[in-house]
Amino acid sequence: MKEVIRTTCSYCSVGCNFDATIEDGHLLSFLPNKTYPVNLGKSCPKGFNLMKAFESDERALTPMLRTGAGTLEPVGWEKALEVFVDRFKGIRDEHGPESVAFLSTGQMPMEEMALLGAVFKFGMGFLHADGNTRQCMATAAVAYKQAFGFDAPPFSYKDFEESDLLIFVGANPVIAHPVMWNRVKMNKKNPRIIVIDPRKTKTAGEAALHLPVKPKGDLDLLYAVAHVLLERNWIDRDFIDRHTSGFADFSNHLRDFSPKSVESRTGIPPALVEELARMIHESSAVSLWWTMGVNQSHQGVRTAQAIINIALMTGNIGRPGTGPNSITGQANAMGSRLFSNTTSLFAGYDTTNDEHRRTIAELLNIDTDFIPDRNGMPYHKILEAVDAGSIKGLWVIATNPAHSWIDRNSLYGKLDKLDFLVVQDLYTTTETARHADLILPAAGSGEKTGTFINSERRLGIVDKITDPPGEAMSDFDIFRHIADAWGCGDMFSGWTHPEAAFNILQHSTEGRPCDITGIAGYDQLRAAGGIQWPYPKTGRDDKTERRLFADGRFYTSDGRARFLFEQSHDVPEPADEEYPVELLSGRGSVAQFHTQTRTGKVAMLNKISPQKCYVEINPDDAEALGLADGDDVEVASRRGSVIVSAVISDGLVPGQVFMPMHFEETNRLTYPAFDPYSAEPSYKHSAVRLSVAHLKRET
Ligand code: SF4
Repeated sequence: MKEVIRTTCSYCSVGCNFDATIEDGHLLSFLPNKTYPVNLGKSCPKGFNLMKAFESDERALTPMLRTGAGTLEPVGWEKALEVFVDRFKGIRDEHGPESVAFLSTGQMPMEEMALLGAVFKFGMGFLHADGNTRQCMATAAVAYKQAFGFDAPPFSYKDFEESDLLIFVGANPVIAHPVMWNRVKMNKKNPRIIVIDPRKTKTAGEAALHLPVKPKGDLDLLYAVAHVLLERNWIDRDFIDRHTSGFADFSNHLRDFSPKSVESRTGIPPALVEELARMIHESSAVSLWWTMGVNQSHQGVRTAQAIINIALMTGNIGRPGTGPNSITGQANAMGSRLFSNTTSLFAGYDTTNDEHRRTIAELLNIDTDFIPDRNGMPYHKILEAVDAGSIKGLWVIATNPAHSWIDRNSLYGKLDKLDFLVVQDLYTTTETARHADLILPAAGSGEKTGTFINSERRLGIVDKITDPPGEAMSDFDIFRHIADAWGCGDMFSGWTHPEAAFNILQHSTEGRPCDITGIAGYDQLRAAGGIQWPYPKTGRDDKTERRLFADGRFYTSDGRARFLFEQSHDVPEPADEEYPVELLSGRGSVAQFHTQTRTGKVAMLNKISPQKCYVEINPDDAEALGLADGDDVEVASRRGSVIVSAVISDGLVPGQVFMPMHFEETNRLTYPAFDPYSAEPSYKHSAVRLSVAHLKRET
């Protein structure tokens, strides 16, 4: 008998829905749902082929334990759980509760993230835990939290269709979020599109105006735009007075940021800055969209807040087609931000606040003392502690830092210092799994149930379509088994299945900005086409799409949004004589995702995306080096060197090159700098040199 099951794509944060038709356990088709309010029948190639990635013969089918001979051998779950508990308890007993950490993901359903965070911190008694969302969204989360009082992206995808001016800063949705770009194309207002990006990306190619800002000159440029808006009095004084704080200080700060005075740092002629400011002034609905070009910066939080400041000072928030809008990266990064129990407690409660801890303890019916009263270390500090030898046990779940971590060469030495590394993943072959002492086989997103939250705060259902292979099981079930084996299972007796966990998380949101107590379980989510938070029990609206801050009230103690700003800082590793070229990195293909852990296993996707790492280089630079398209070229930084193919592109200005994040070569070169507020790595700028001297040209 045929059955149609709807599920949410588990790659990017757009959150597209698909209808899987199955018969006798076999998948017959997997097609984008035409009525889902996110994708409206559209998809990108990754989504179409989502289920194919789970068919790989590289799947982990049983737990695998490293033997004395150094090989990984299959073991049963009983043995795997016994070793997991013995080794981590042994490390804890010898070195204390701060000697074990986990690194997880923005890819798992939020019920799984929440259970992991609760078991690890409240049940097992550890402290240090972080997710790979630190690598992409920490900046946006901190920027919103500081400015609005809560991590609250204000928009709905409908805003793509309702703006008359859309400004994309460090965002390339044509490649990275193609279904969002489709929503832009649905805009019937003939909107003007502006792109601020050092590269002439595919999105920039579609724009009315492209501002090729110097790498990391974006903060100065945004301040210069604000300077002109203020100088011309193109501001919404009424909105500023009634709904914000800190504008007088921000105005003083802007004095030093005339377009002329920052031109050498931005590379943008003052006339272009004036033109952009005028366009903002003359438009009735301006939306500003940013993603990793802003987030992954040594000054990402202040750059994101410079975008927020422009929206606030011009009153472009809370109305259709407006907003300072962060586009998220991973499918459930938003769920991670609210429920992973890593940087805050559930529902954004503060770990360091006694009352908040009591609230969560009451909700979970546990003693408040089980909840740590301080935050654990962020990702890069955890890795530093591994290097220093104070963290000796690490549990890596559904992420691949040995490929994706900035300056990844340095990570290998760190992983090898560990006494015990557990990798919980779909595959045995990731760069990180190759270092594991124990591999726990996990189910893929089409093999389990839960919920994701997409970029526009929409909760969508992930439904099980097929059974996981071999002895693999859902991460949810793995965490429950670990809790039982550890001896803290009773503490989580109410977390019997994902929907029970969802109900617990719902309760945690009561009265919070992200209140979802009005959702009547998974069935309502399925029937409604997902639901955006907030969705409280009382006083909610039932619109399919809605945005925040229509009433001009923010989540800060005084209800006002804050202008936040500071001096800009030079890039941490400027180009110099030895390494004269600036390396940019980012997503390179619509058909690949992150480290290619899943997409690289799909033949169709491999056919339509580059199979070898490449560096894009300006034609003048290529000519100076005697390089032709496809030639091998050595790219070297102070961290290492790689040999990749040259792709000659006029999308880059001389002195800059671009490499895609999907290949393991790229992060051998990147410079490990971090934003001081979000601790997000600054992937977008490093100094390198190119060389072809000892290489043969391909003919
Ligand atoms: Fe949609 Fe993103 Fe999945 Fe593509 S990868 S189908 S855009 S959710």
